[in-house]
Amino acid sequence: MATIAFIGLGNMGSGMCANLAKAGHDVRAFDLSAAAVKRAESAGAKGAASAADAVMGADAVVTMLPAGKHVRAVYEGEVFPNAKPGALMMDCSTIDVATARSVGEAAAAKGFPFVDAPVSGGVAGAEAGTLTFMVGGPDDAFSKAEEFLSIMGKAVIHAGDAGTGQAAKICNNMLLGITMIGTCEAFALAEKLGLDQQRFFDIASKASGQSWSMTSYCPVPGPVEASPANRGYTPGFATAMMLKDLKLAMDAAATSGATTPMGAQAEALYALFDNLGGRDADFSGIYKLLQGSWKAE
Ligand code: NAD
Repeated sequence: MATIAFIGLGNMGSGMCANLAKAGHDVRAFDLSAAAVKRAESAGAKGAASAADAVMGADAVVTMLPAGKHVRAVYEGEVFPNAKPGALMMDCSTIDVATARSVGEAAAAKGFPFVDAPVSGGVAGAEAGTLTFMVGGPDDAFSKAEEFLSIMGKAVIHAGDAGTGQAAKICNNMLLGITMIGTCEAFALAEKLGLDQQRFFDIASKASGQSWSMTSYCPVPGPVEASPANRGYTPGFATAMMLKDLKLAMDAAATSGATTPMGAQAEALYALFDNLGGRDADFSGIYKLLQGSWKAE
């Protein structure tokens, strides 16, 4: 069994850390929040006094942090200077591609195998160990990381070189934001045209308008039992998270010269929904805004 440093024990990290401990690994957990460290201890990890303390002597390091600036600061300030030679490093946060590449390159220059390994699957997937990992990094780092990531997830997919895990994540989520808004618009129009929503679902879910946003996460109450629409749009995947990912996608589009007009529209609409009080609602709740029944806070 390996000694693993786990840094960032928030909504996602706490479940992921618990699953590594449950699998029998010696997990040393650190977060700026003392309450989060206590929660990790009760799930089988050992609390550490600092990120540096967690990392010392560990075979592997997992980070699950809010954004690129936190990832850079933690790796440059605490992980690189304290890790044992050759320690495996896995950053599972969703961050910008440029930071992921530069932290990955810095790790490689110091001889550490490093992967960017953002996830899809949300808090429920983190707790159940059923996340999907999209992994960027060299082949040897990927094969070392696979053993640990597969404890926390049901699918571990190698996307390519450093940064491509983050690229896969933001391209996927940009597409998700666009298809969700399109699905919401179609249901709102169907309603205005006097078409029953269940009937429209029955038809479109078997026709060319079908998508994951419709058949697995339908934004109107009724057709898909597990949808947040059936529980007042409690997340699920919060609008704030979708907006974060769309901003990352639009920044990446600007720096790479990609043309993404639908992504830009999706970002603008989610920013509007966020401003009107939808920030903590599930991202499928934008249906209510488009349908005209959202009450601005
Ligand atoms: P969160 O805000 O709940 O957790 C982040 C944790 O990092 C916090 O507990 C915070 O105290 C800790 N932290 C910040 N700076 C730190 C530092 N320097 N040292 C140690 N700990 C530090 O966020 P989350 O929902 O767990 O998301 C984490 C990452 O996963 C984000 O990048 C997010 O975009 C991504 N993500 C989230 C979801 C989701 O549904 N919540 C889904 C997929 C991906």
